[in-house]
Amino acid sequence: MEAVADNLQAVRERIARAARAAGREPGAIRLVAVSKMQPPAAVAQAARAGQRAFGENYVQEAVAKMDALADLDLEWHLVGPVQSNKTRAAAERFDCVQTVASERIARRLCEQRPERRRPLDVLVQVNISGEASKSGVAPARVPALVRAVAALPRLRLRGLMAIPEPAADLALVRARFRAVRELYERLRAEGFALDTLSLGMSDDLEVAIAEGATLVRVGRAIFGPRRAARASALPPS
Ligand SMILES: *Cc1c(COP(=O)(O)O)cnc(C)c1O
Repeated sequence: MEAVADNLQAVRERIARAARAAGREPGAIRLVAVSKMQPPAAVAQAARAGQRAFGENYVQEAVAKMDALADLDLEWHLVGPVQSNKTRAAAERFDCVQTVASERIARRLCEQRPERRRPLDVLVQVNISGEASKSGVAPARVPALVRAVAALPRLRLRGLMAIPEPAADLALVRARFRAVRELYERLRAEGFALDTLSLGMSDDLEVAIAEGATLVRVGRAIFGPRRAARASALPPS
């Protein structure tokens, strides 16, 4: 089980190399370790190796892990779709929801964020693959949603997130990432104080960093294959 620490180190090196190749500071890119379908013990190992931010796709699974690891000071990101019957748990338990794709869900998260906690960090998820993906908001609708979310007092809008459709062709992935980055830069130019562009996973983090990602979400390259028990719940990846 030393593997997690070694893998984590290898991923950090990949990030640093990609950053330098792009003329960027390695410290400008945050790593979120995606621990969906991994046991709490694997998260604890990564935590011992210095990893603080973890990503989960399923609220119930995440809450069980948070409870099991409550003595560690970890930061939790929701990277799976937010269902409306899960917004309360998401608002109460997560530090960041990366997958806001409607004003209705954003309002619920805002209303349900506990007063005792600081405003919930959120990202707007952009659907960059059209028909090929059901998650996220179409690029043309992003500015209106960003405006609405930025006005919600219990949310703090930090930026954009996207998941490209699976593609063997990294040039296509790169073009998708670039489109999101351009949208992000336009919003910043309009005056939105955004600092987070969440792109890139195990297979394409170098491309994401070359295209300006400030946060990468990495699962398999850190934890190895996900547990088979819930393989049927695996989103396409
Ligand atoms: C599972 C998942 C990841 C991690 O993917 P890997 O290919 O295991 O690195 C990143 N982002 C999202 C939204 C995911 O669902």
